[in-house]
This record gives sequence, C-alpha cells and structure tokens, in this order.
Amino acid sequence: MNIPFNKPYLSGNVLASIQHVLDSGKLSGDGAVCKTVERRMELLFHIRYTLLTTSGTHALETAMMLLGLQSGDEVITPSFTFVSTANAIIRCGGKPVFCEINGRTLTMDVQDVERKISSRTKAIVPVHYAGVSADMDELCALAHTHQCMVVEDAAQGVNARYKGKFLGTIGDLGAYSFHDTKNYICGEGGALLTNDEPLARRAEIIREKGTNRSNFLRGEVDKYTWVDLGSSYVLSDILAAVLNDQLNELDAIQQRREKIHRAYIAGLTELEQLEKLRLPVIPEYCASNYHIFYVLLPDAAQRNRLLTKLKEAGVGATFHYIPLHSSPYAQNVLGLKDLKLPVTDTVSNSLLRLPLYPQLADDQVQYVIEQVKKILR
Ligand SMILES: *Cc1c(COP(=O)(O)O)cnc(C)c1O
Repeated sequence: MNIPFNKPYLSGNVLASIQHVLDSGKLSGDGAVCKTVERRMELLFHIRYTLLTTSGTHALETAMMLLGLQSGDEVITPSFTFVSTANAIIRCGGKPVFCEINGRTLTMDVQDVERKISSRTKAIVPVHYAGVSADMDELCALAHTHQCMVVEDAAQGVNARYKGKFLGTIGDLGAYSFHDTKNYICGEGGALLTNDEPLARRAEIIREKGTNRSNFLRGEVDKYTWVDLGSSYVLSDILAAVLNDQLNELDAIQQRREKIHRAYIAGLTELEQLEKLRLPVIPEYCASNYHIFYVLLPDAAQRNRLLTKLKEAGVGATFHYIPLHSSPYAQNVLGLKDLKLPVTDTVSNSLLRLPLYPQLADDQVQYVIEQVKKILR
C-alpha cells in the first residue's frame, strides 16, 4: 500500500477548459473567466464582492493593506496558523498579537482575545482551522465593542458554514485559498470577499498595481493611472478556468470528503473510548467542509511513534503547524521568547493528520483505520 497524504483533485473537463482560454488569446489576469468565477462565487456564497487573487496569502495581504495599519497597530490572530496570516500583518505595518486556541475546536480562544484586545487593536483575524468555524458571533461582538475589523482567514473554509452563513462572508473581509492542498484548487490562487463597496473598490485598485484600471474597463474613467499603493494580485484566466471547473463539482467534492471523514470517525471511535486518541469536534453551529481529518494523541512521543509506524505501513500521515510564536522568526526577530500559549503547544505536539481527498477509495480509508488501530492497540 502507498497512500499519499494529498492528491490534487481535477475534473475531467480541465484540459478542455484550459485549451479554451489558450485559444481565446487572452491569458492574463482579471479576464472574462475570472469575472465568470467571481460572479459565480458571489451567488454561491451570498457575498456582494469577490475578487480572485494570485493566492490566499495575497488575499490576506490585500485585506491588511485595506486596514491602513500604522506603526504600533495590533492585529490579533492565533499562533496555530499558517505563516501567511502573520506575514500579511507585518508586511502591512502591523504587529501580530498571538492568541491561544480553544483545545476542543482548535479555533481562536475568545477569552484570550478578550484579554489581549485594546485600543491599539485594529483587527481580529480568526482562522477557520480544518474548515471548522471560529466563534464568529462572540468575535464580531468583541470587534464591534472595540471598533476594530474582523478579517476571516477562511483559506481552509471554502463552502463551510457558521450558523448558515458561509465562512469568509461573516467578517468585514474574508480570504480564501485555492492552493492545491485545499478543497477547491487551481494550483495557486485565492479570493478576497467583502460586502463593503468602498473596501471592494479599493481592493480592485490594490490588486491592479495601484491603478484604477478596473474603473477604466467598466467605462467609469476615460484613462487609467496610478491612484494608490498596490501590487499585482490578479489571477490568470488559465488558472481561473481550472477553478471554474471545480465550482461545477462544489458539492460533490464536499460530499465525498464528508463520507471519508465519517468513515474515519466510525472506525476510530473505539480508540477514543479506550482513550488512545481524541477525534475532531465539529460544533453543532458549524457545517464543516471536511478540509482536514486530524486526531490528537496523548503526547508528542505517541504522536511521533504513530507517524513513523504509519509511514512504514505506506500511509502518508503528517503533523501540522509549528506554532508561530515558537518559530525562529518570532523568537529572534519579534522577541516573543516569553509568550506562553500552552494549549497551542500541546495541540501542535499531539496532532496528526490522515489522508483526505476525493480520490481516496473506501478500501484505502479502511486500510488507514486498520493500521491506526493496529499501531495504537
Ligand atoms: C493555505 C493557507 C493560507 C495561504 O494560502 P495560499 O493560497 O497557499 O497562499 C493562509 N492561511 C491558512 C490558514 C491556510 O491554510
């Protein structure tokens, strides 16, 4: 058996869709296919403005540029996240304030946010880990009280919901990723979402090198020029065509992932009852997109042992984030040697992810379950 940790899923039409763009002679960013995908996403996810970007990282950077951070401004985000969340804050002049996660859901710990929020806080950036939403009502209420913004890092949250609302559409701004490790992919890509018209207009300018080219293309101005600080974050139509195909299978992809997730839960519940591991929790207010299937082992030694033994059995299991606050950059450059986030450390040391992608066959899932059982019993 050789079961890789991840395999990018591509639809059967993808070559024809790419060929169509190549034949059109228009390959650059923000073209007709991008517009089609953006309008589709606005309808699918009930959001007024969707702007495709070159990555989830760039969607987060655009969001941070929109905040207009000044020196000393703080942005609260979990330490248990991908580096892009924190890079975006720092690159745009802010200071990341790392908070704890809830040990049950692995999303932002609201009480710790409450402790760390102040008049210097300009935004809260919740991360919807594994496609499970953060406590958005509580976080939005805190942000409202302290007059700061909520930027959702919904890189892992596409097509998942919190109390019926799609992740990425609840805060002031939301960021999606279509990197090939995510649920819906185009190689590298992302999107910025907002219901706020001024923010959307300015994001268009930032994405187009700081020019008002988008206004020009809509016939709103008769030439286009440099009007703001920007960069080049428009997605090529070639990649947008790949993403367009994925949207045709939006629910089918999710249903297959859900089926695998349920099979893992059913197969591993026995081990949870024996207290050999803990299974992921999806709170009742959340409709997951089943982005990640993880288990939590009692400690790092047992996690590492399971990881090694699974590799020997041909199963591509893997750990996840090294907490950002304990990374070399945070320790040496940001000076965070004294920051203690014990829940984050424990989760990081004990978490193990199992393979989860639409092409994973039922018998492969059963094989993974059997191996985990054999190793832990
Ligand atoms: C994947 C991911 C990103 C970055 O997305 P890219 O498209 O790879 O740039 C940011 N935040 C989180 C939580 C992610 O999982």
